[in-house]
Amino acid sequence: MLDPVNILLVTVLSSIMSLAILGSLRPAGIPGVGRWIGAYVMASVALLLAGLQRLGVPVLTVLVSNVLLALAVVRVLEGCRQFFGLKPRVPLAYAGVAALAAGIVWWYWAEPSLGARVAVVSAFHAAIYTSIGWLALRCRPPARPVYSYRFVTLSAWLGAFAHALRGVMYGSGFVMQHGLLDFTPLNVAWLALGILVLPSLSIGMVLLAHDRMAERLERLANQDELTGALTRRAFLAQANAMLDTARGTGERVTLAIVDIDHFKSINDHYGHAAGDRVLAQFGRIVKGGVRASDAFGRLGGEEFALFFTGMTREEAVRRLDELRVLTLAVRRSADTHAREPEHGGHEGLTFSAGVDELQAQDSLAALMARADAALYVAKTRGRDCVVAA
Ligand code: GH3
Ligand code: MG
Ligand code: MG
Repeated sequence: MLDPVNILLVTVLSSIMSLAILGSLRPAGIPGVGRWIGAYVMASVALLLAGLQRLGVPVLTVLVSNVLLALAVVRVLEGCRQFFGLKPRVPLAYAGVAALAAGIVWWYWAEPSLGARVAVVSAFHAAIYTSIGWLALRCRPPARPVYSYRFVTLSAWLGAFAHALRGVMYGSGFVMQHGLLDFTPLNVAWLALGILVLPSLSIGMVLLAHDRMAERLERLANQDELTGALTRRAFLAQANAMLDTARGTGERVTLAIVDIDHFKSINDHYGHAAGDRVLAQFGRIVKGGVRASDAFGRLGGEEFALFFTGMTREEAVRRLDELRVLTLAVRRSADTHAREPEHGGHEGLTFSAGVDELQAQDSLAALMARADAALYVAKTRGRDCVVAA
């Protein structure tokens, strides 16, 4: 069982199983998965060829198998770069593959040296695995759980360490061996490490893809696609959490309910699609006009809510008045010459808002009800204004 050939064949089988799992993720359209699949196809063929070394066709079992395996790990690296939104191609890695091929040809046929060959191949793999681990460490999107990213880093760096160690041992002549598949304890140990790295890296890729899918679902559930605001459910959850924190720290908390004025007339005049564009632009401006620590949610239709911490009612009113000036820049229609005589004759978008501050023993629902009543007052006062409860 511990014969290196068997170990290689088990690695081939595990690579094929990795392919089955990665293949199942293909329809999700996650960047990089296509390249990872290509990598594991190449790795399977390369390892199969390497396992056939005793057949005595070195061009295939030494040269082609090593070049294919090198291309496979480059493909894994490219897949990772694509996954993280970087330019996938790494020309330097292909130069490395060419150098590796030249080294193998030279030290197999011109000046045979197993030690030199192993050193070249190992240095190459150690460099690529180090880059993969580094990418996963540096490029994790903020706020994503670290587990899958650290898993990839750990697997890749384990691979890098094993290859570096092997390269040094063979390259320095510390280990003397005649054939790559000799049944020596060190060879068996190294192959066993190799066996662990390829499948665990593929598990890492699968974990990354799953994390990306979870991120997409969370975004769908929490973020309103049109306006970029939080969905109602996510806003209420975040506001409740912020409220609990503020109770602990004694910070002041203010809530505003905002409703766009005469929005129905935009739909009626310019069509529903124009109304959607106006909503999207409104969302972008408000989101850009509040602090990252404020919560901005779409309660429904053209009604929004803002939750401010560390702000008094008067400060919140001032902030909303500033936002009112900013959203005036949103045109009610795409046609800049169009006028709207019914509603004041100007083209800019206006909104009304009701604001109130959290009182002791208050609930979010009670605070929202008071802000909503203030919004109603703002509407009856002729709109385009902010009213504090
Ligand atoms: P008021 O000043 O009193 O708030 O008047 P209003 O016209 O803004 O309010 P009303 O509640 O009468 O109309 C809101 C309109 O918003 C009705 C609805 O068709 C439209 N609306 C709600 N959601 C969307 C959306 O996602 N896209 C578009 N285009 N329109 C929407
Ligand atoms: Mg309205
Ligand atoms: Mg409304």
